[in-house]
Amino acid sequence: MWIDSHCHLTHEKMESTPEELVKAAGEVGVDGMVTISCQISGDFPGVLATAQKFDNVWCSVGTHPHDAGAAEEKAITQEKLVELATSDTNIIGIGESGLDYYYDNSPRDDQKESFRKHIRACIETDLPLIVHTRDAEEDTINIMREEGQGTNLSGVMHCFSSGPKLAQQALDFGFYISFSGIVTFNKADELRTIAKDVPLDRILVETDAPYLAPMPHRGKANVPAYVAHTGKFLADLKGVSEEEMAKATTENFFRLFNKAKL
Ligand SMILES: [Zn+2]
Ligand SMILES: [Zn+2]
Repeated sequence: MWIDSHCHLTHEKMESTPEELVKAAGEVGVDGMVTISCQISGDFPGVLATAQKFDNVWCSVGTHPHDAGAAEEKAITQEKLVELATSDTNIIGIGESGLDYYYDNSPRDDQKESFRKHIRACIETDLPLIVHTRDAEEDTINIMREEGQGTNLSGVMHCFSSGPKLAQQALDFGFYISFSGIVTFNKADELRTIAKDVPLDRILVETDAPYLAPMPHRGKANVPAYVAHTGKFLADLKGVSEEEMAKATTENFFRLFNKAKL
């Protein structure tokens, strides 16, 4: 059994309905998934409604760094975020939040402030944080430490694509590392080196669908079913059996996202 720890089932670029995606996933042993919220004032109600429809779909609530500068998102207080995050048992994590200095779609100060708000909400609710970070290694770990050191903060570095230093710092901080289809891409040698070194009990797998379809589906719309390809690829890379990798990543998922129940 595989779990897709991060996808966007209701994203406009998805070419199938959530019903079709969940069914196709189940046929290849992908028996659970988390559909991730990017705008609390935008996609969140639909994300939650989708999670409510299926026993094996859970969701998050949060503001993507791309949207951190939007007035509607800035208006959401930490108190409101906590209220939403605890409003339904299908909500098992907070995010995706973090820093994206590659696109810089929102001012960096807004991204940082939003990231701090999400971390504080995680500490208050004891829900894990789903971190999105790109080209922002130092600020990401610094804010995580400033806000979370010595607290109950837990979480995952989703779709990990940063360097070995941040990987080690995140592991030392107690976080999990989630690999997407990027790890299967031809040019991702550095990422494969990192993946080899991440302990088996700290790895998650994800698709980030509809983006980033893994080999051999690269270029097509990604779907949760494809997480099995990434899982098999990681198993080969780490020299363990497919079953062992599936078991480890699934156990890791339920340990971190402990509100998720099948
Ligand atoms: Zn992301
Ligand atoms: Zn995402």
